Amino acid sequence: MITTTPKEYGPQPTLKQEYDVIVMGAGPGGAVSAALIAEAGHSVLLLDRSEFPRFHVGESLIPETYWTLKRLGLLEKLKASNFPRKHSVQFVSDGHKESAPFYFEDYNPHECSVTWQVERGVFDQMLTDKAVENGTVFRSDASVMDVLFEGDRATGVKVKLSTKEQNPVREIKSQVVVDSTGQSSFLVNRLGLKDTDPCLKKGTIWSYYKGALRDEGRDEGATIILQTEGKKSWFWYIPLSDDVVSVGCTGDMQYMFNKSRSKPEETWAEELERCPALKRRLENAQQCESFYVTKDYSYKATQPAGPGWVLVGDASGFIDPCYSTGVFLALKSGEFAADAIVEGFQKNDLSGTQLGKWRETYNKGVDNFRRLVYAFYTPGFSFGSFLKMYPQYKSNMVDILIGDVFKDGVDEIFREMDPVMRKTLESHNEVTDSTTTM
Ligand SMILES: Cc1cc2nc3c(=O)[nH]c(=O)nc-3n(C[C@H](O)[C@H](O)[C@H](O)COP(=O)(O)OP(=O)(O)OC[C@H]3O[C@@H](n4cnc5c(N)ncnc54)[C@H](O)[C@@H]3O)c2cc1C
Repeated sequence: MITTTPKEYGPQPTLKQEYDVIVMGAGPGGAVSAALIAEAGHSVLLLDRSEFPRFHVGESLIPETYWTLKRLGLLEKLKASNFPRKHSVQFVSDGHKESAPFYFEDYNPHECSVTWQVERGVFDQMLTDKAVENGTVFRSDASVMDVLFEGDRATGVKVKLSTKEQNPVREIKSQVVVDSTGQSSFLVNRLGLKDTDPCLKKGTIWSYYKGALRDEGRDEGATIILQTEGKKSWFWYIPLSDDVVSVGCTGDMQYMFNKSRSKPEETWAEELERCPALKRRLENAQQCESFYVTKDYSYKATQPAGPGWVLVGDASGFIDPCYSTGVFLALKSGEFAADAIVEGFQKNDLSGTQLGKWRETYNKGVDNFRRLVYAFYTPGFSFGSFLKMYPQYKSNMVDILIGDVFKDGVDEIFREMDPVMRKTLESHNEVTDSTTTM
């Protein structure tokens, strides 16, 4: 089972009327912000509505998460954990051709090139523990009902605590509110800031298996991305600890959940038939969880911050499960936001401009991931063929895949990739049009 034993936290801490900063949501984004702001000496209240440790999808890390984890002082804990080491990623084409695994350490022989496949319950708990160790007050029985505003300035939250409390609904004040509520995107919805991505209308079904085939040695913890025949969907294969593997299937929403497929089991069975390399890996495995489903999750916020508030992690946008970028971006935005908040207190400037000052750099990095995701979904586009034509861009591509997306010049690859993608799409559409009109 993927569920984790609840940790004995003891009684939930008593709350004050006011904190310097309130962080809503204790996923990676919120926990990192809280940890770093508290470390700088500010009073921080971190609120989550789920009992911790809680289940969450998103198990595969990418190498560049290393630096935030290092800054938090968590590397030793991770090294001592039983999370499988992820040395590489491997691709299986729709024609069942298995690429050689790509080892990150061959590209960058530094210990950051070996990352982890994490059970999120345990991983997120490590992060919240660090926030608490740094002085954050953490309540995991606290559902935020509203953000309080005076004019356009956020001034605190209205929260519903566990029913064991005498006075469960409270208003708590703060100078800054960090929204890290994940895909619930509290403020984005409250303020009407959601910009959904028309190019990525995807849906995912996933589950967990025990006893699936694992490769050996340093390939044991590799992420495998498997295309299905016809490339209408793809599977992830992420080995976790205790012989569990996370397996998920993603495709266009309309395709994944069309009328003839009333249950996720039906879509799953049909897509698995189109993926013999995965079928072989799951042949002797037992499914140990029911199916989970999520869809239409690709969006971004039109405004990242305002007076006294800032968005972090998925609360400010999400691209796609492909390339496993979500936790990295949550950690990184949590770190950027924390630094801007701490500086804002020093300068006595908690304006939206100050709290969101990192956003331009961040958005450029996110955009590098997004453009590579578009390429992945462009019918007929092949990374292999592109790199044969333009081998000089291999390092740009690897940099993006490992998460080194804020580096100057890493986007040079798109000078050639964007036109190739457009051409590929045009010729694909011509072929599709001519076959449908025949
Ligand atoms: C199908 C799928 C597969 C994915 N696979 C990967 C992967 O392999 N690798 C990867 O890096 N990323 C992956 N991701 C993305 C990853 O899961 C997220 O990007 C990541 O969890 C974002 O972290 P976060 O801190 O922003 O939010 P979350 O981790 O979602 O945390 C948000 C927290 O806010 C709390 N919350 C929400 N609303 C309230 C409220 N009103 N009051 C109090 N608390 C609240 C929730 O309980 C939750 O604990 C995947 C995403 C999807 C959809």
